[in-house]
Amino acid sequence: MSIITRAALLKAPYDIDLVERELVCGEDEVIVKNHLIGICGSDKSFYRGQMPPKTAEFRQDPKFPFYLGHESGGVIVEVGSKVIDYKVGDKVIAFGWNNNYADYFLSKTWQLQPVPEGMDMDLASLGEPIACGMYSGMNSGVQMGDVVVVMGGGFAGQIIAQCAKKKGASTVVVADVLDGKLELAKKLGADVTVNLKKQDAMEVVMGLTDGLGADVVVEAAGSESSFNMASEIIKHNGKFVFYSWVTQPITLNISRWHDDGIEFVNTCLVHHSWRERYVWTPATLKPVVKGLVDIKSLITNEFKLSDIKAAFELADKDDTAIKIVLRP
Ligand SMILES: [Zn+2]
Repeated sequence: MSIITRAALLKAPYDIDLVERELVCGEDEVIVKNHLIGICGSDKSFYRGQMPPKTAEFRQDPKFPFYLGHESGGVIVEVGSKVIDYKVGDKVIAFGWNNNYADYFLSKTWQLQPVPEGMDMDLASLGEPIACGMYSGMNSGVQMGDVVVVMGGGFAGQIIAQCAKKKGASTVVVADVLDGKLELAKKLGADVTVNLKKQDAMEVVMGLTDGLGADVVVEAAGSESSFNMASEIIKHNGKFVFYSWVTQPITLNISRWHDDGIEFVNTCLVHHSWRERYVWTPATLKPVVKGLVDIKSLITNEFKLSDIKAAFELADKDDTAIKIVLRP
């Protein structure tokens, strides 16, 4: 059987449109009816024409025209003859680039994750970015009493900052260039915020730590200046936590990485193999299902799928939009 769907095609930079596609379910595949779809920072990079190198996550080469989208969730409506781990009616979270800006998407089962019992479907549809942020926050190595700096107040940064607080950090600092994101961070529990355009992060962090530097710095902004600032404000033997996906070459001053014995933690959940992800995702979503981390406040804008052009225009122009979602 096959299903006709509307699906987003990124024809060229800044040129996205819905096209009609026929999905044919392979024997080891399933078709999922979407509940909600999120725009990821990496989708924005694609939209702006910054294509990353091809990775195992993609079904297609990262070049134009590109069938875009990877953050969504929904209900399985069809399963292939060889699929044994899912059945029609199962609620699933997408973990793969399967052209998810669509009414329906086709997926291999290893690119899915069951929705935890009791999880709101709006949140489950953002299960991939939530799990990624939570994984980073839960594995950042934050100890009770730490001063933690989160570089970047986007979707992941806001989640990571909340996790740091819940894990017992004495002071959580969120640094960004936008006041709107910093105000939200404050509302969600950050102790101190730094607007990198107006304030000197070095001065703020040294002031908070008797000149020692932060115990943990999480890089969740993904820019050259952010990586360099993170390398400066971290204490001797501090923990540098990677989160961002930087797809373009950048120039770093890394003398301190050696000289100050900086410890590195790579917290990219989906890139530790799907088997590890299968184990970790339920644990990362548990605190969310229990309401310990506020995600709803991070959903700033909603569009109908048919308004995908407007949604991407907003994503491109308005950096204060944290998570933009599309409803089929
Ligand atoms: Zn993403």
